[in-house]
Amino acid sequence: MNLVRQLIAGSWSEGGSGRTVTVFDPSTGAPVSTVPVSSDADVLAAVRAARQAAPGWAGTSAAGRAAALRAAADAVERATGELAALMHAEMGKPAGEAAGSIEAGVGTLRQYAELGPVHRGRALAGDDGAIDLMAFGPRGVVAVITPWNDPVAVACGLLGAALVTGNTVVHKPSERTPATGHRLAELLAPHLPDGVLSLVNGDGPVGAALAAAEVDVVAHVGSTATGRSIAAACARTGAKALLENGGSDPLIVDAGVDPAWAAGQAATGAFANSGQICVAVERIYVHREVADAFLDALAAEARAWAARIGPLVDTRLRDGVHAQVSAAIEAGARALTGGAVPDGPGAFYPPTVLAGCTDEMAVMREETFGPVAPVMVVESFDEALKRAADSPYGLAATVLTPSMSHAQRAWRELPAGTVKVNAVFGGAPGGAAHPRKSSGHGFGYGPELLDEMTVTKAVHIEAPPSGW
Ligand code: NAD
Repeated sequence: MNLVRQLIAGSWSEGGSGRTVTVFDPSTGAPVSTVPVSSDADVLAAVRAARQAAPGWAGTSAAGRAAALRAAADAVERATGELAALMHAEMGKPAGEAAGSIEAGVGTLRQYAELGPVHRGRALAGDDGAIDLMAFGPRGVVAVITPWNDPVAVACGLLGAALVTGNTVVHKPSERTPATGHRLAELLAPHLPDGVLSLVNGDGPVGAALAAAEVDVVAHVGSTATGRSIAAACARTGAKALLENGGSDPLIVDAGVDPAWAAGQAATGAFANSGQICVAVERIYVHREVADAFLDALAAEARAWAARIGPLVDTRLRDGVHAQVSAAIEAGARALTGGAVPDGPGAFYPPTVLAGCTDEMAVMREETFGPVAPVMVVESFDEALKRAADSPYGLAATVLTPSMSHAQRAWRELPAGTVKVNAVFGGAPGGAAHPRKSSGHGFGYGPELLDEMTVTKAVHIEAPPSGW
């Protein structure tokens, strides 16, 4: 059993609230981690330590901070196998996939180590004889609150960007992957001065205490409901809220595509990581011309995925997924595959294809976060675009089409941060986008995340009057 400790001002200890959280292996139901939950006083002590460490870290050269980050990235890389095993045990991701996402996290740390020292202000053209410039500096103390579905890669992005720009950080990993977060902190902290990175542990109330504390930024990746309550907390303290939240990403399957290929794309988008990806395919609009062949091929894909799909993170999420599927079936959708909770241990749920879905169903409107592909047949590309755009979320969208004009319309018209054409996943490293609507706000990735973590100061300097 992994014992998860907190790190405050360079010292490791058990959280002092008197509460514990236990994490169960989603494949077997066996307990894997136990977390003595941090108390409110622990959270405040971590923030105080971060505040005390802030001037020293801000005064460290950008090259020095980058060197620390590079050394930390090397340590994370060396521990890939160990982190992947923890991720697998805590949230069920197959070890090979987990190793891939740790590699992505290491890549992000290294990217920020390179970008940090060249991130800078600019000189302005002011009055003759004056000096005008925009100078950048760290915001101060950053609270980083992260989810479980990609726990290392997501944390590495926010921690790397915050630290390399000279901020100090208090990290609260998800209560569903606490030992993974704990190991990551153990790997990073030896490369940083005491107090520059602190770790507090526990569930929602611990995150809420951290978000309400006197920090300068709260960077949250997680659900929309949590993001909203963090935004409210930030409105009270004046901290900046940086929110990367949930989605209900549409996939449009246009007339003229190969239905078997489109079904392969749809299955990857809906079933990879058991559907537990923020940019998973959550709803599908297929043109009538290819609909029958597409649905047959998608059902076949789902049956093939059933043999290799991992569990959901826990039975709480599985109950929510199954409730959406059952409500859709009750409202008239047809399950072509899946749709039933299997017997046996763990939190498994089968890849599920639902035909005959409508806009009002929660499975089409809300984020499902499970291996479910709900499908609606449409009569035209216009109708597909209109329905795809009509969502409370705006994270990402995919369009499969042989038509360049449809591709152009899709990326221009869809109100989402990311639009992908003819591939459900992919994109150049360093890409960053503004999530729209309920999916959050601010840049959570890419070089632009360095801007989010810095304050800009406009400086105007004139020579003293002559004769002094
Ligand atoms: P969650 O919001 O429930 O939890 C995320 C973190 O917030 C955890 O550390 C949790 O303890 C903490 N938290 C919970 N309640 C809180 C509160 N009231 N105040 C402060 N912190 C609180 O999300 P989750 O279930 O862990 O993650 C899944 C969600 O994350 C999905 O909605 C998914 O789409 C989203 N996600 C988004 C992105 C993105 O880049 N947009 C990436 C990954 C995951």
